[in-house]
Amino acid sequence: MTTRIQHPQSPDPGSPPAAESERITLAESEWRDRLESAEFRVLRKEATEPAFTSPLNAEHRDGVFVCAGCGAELFRSDSKYDSGTGWPSFSDAIPGAVSTKRDFKLFVPRTEYHCSRCGGHQGHVFGDGPAPTGLRYCNNGIALRFRPAGDDGDPVRGPNPGKED
Ligand SMILES: [Zn+2]
Repeated sequence: MTTRIQHPQSPDPGSPPAAESERITLAESEWRDRLESAEFRVLRKEATEPAFTSPLNAEHRDGVFVCAGCGAELFRSDSKYDSGTGWPSFSDAIPGAVSTKRDFKLFVPRTEYHCSRCGGHQGHVFGDGPAPTGLRYCNNGIALRFRPAGDDGDPVRGPNPGKED
């Protein structure tokens, strides 16, 4: 005979913590300590990762994509689509999760967006996305983590993270 041990269920994994709306402000040196160098360059210096390098391009499970800098929930898996660009792409963001600003690093202005909570750069939003929004949030995969639905563990870098470096 075996005794089945009942583990208490999480109260409500779907509800964001109350602190979700709180801003996180850290000094550059604190971000350097907290982030890997490649993450720091994208999140804090607005670098762009090389196309087709993120494991999250191949992430197709149900779940939520969170900011790699602070863990805020930014995109739901049902808004992710394959844009063919080589970067994780989304047709919509979770309301209020990202903020935008104009960016003139290219010849034509483009709209930069970043995590509303920590200010971490995520990517650029374009007007050539699918219906119904018509938007394409082109996101650096390294600036995101993925939390599969029903998984209370730490968010992951992709379906097959491979070797850690
Ligand atoms: Zn953040």
